[in-house]
Amino acid sequence: MLGAMLRLIVAIVIVYLVYRLAKAIFLPSDERQEHFPGEPTPIDGEDMVQDPYCNTYIPLSDAYKASIDGKICYFCSQECFEKYKTEKRKN
Ligand SMILES: [Zn+2]
Repeated sequence: MLGAMLRLIVAIVIVYLVYRLAKAIFLPSDERQEHFPGEPTPIDGEDMVQDPYCNTYIPLSDAYKASIDGKICYFCSQECFEKYKTEKRKN
């Protein structure tokens, strides 16, 4: 009776090992997950916009947004926007 139990356990272990081996061969999905870590990668740069007056590049969130002739323009400051507007009027 004990011998039969032992053979059953050995059989289960073998089946389990074969299952693990088959899974490793046919479904290598565990390795793929390593290429997609859960941690978010830091944003390595915000969208930059160019000031058309002084030609400085400013991050979009810091830019002074203004509409000129129906077109959205970004400036480093309101001062540049005023100067650009004045200069544009002269032409
Ligand atoms: Zn500027």
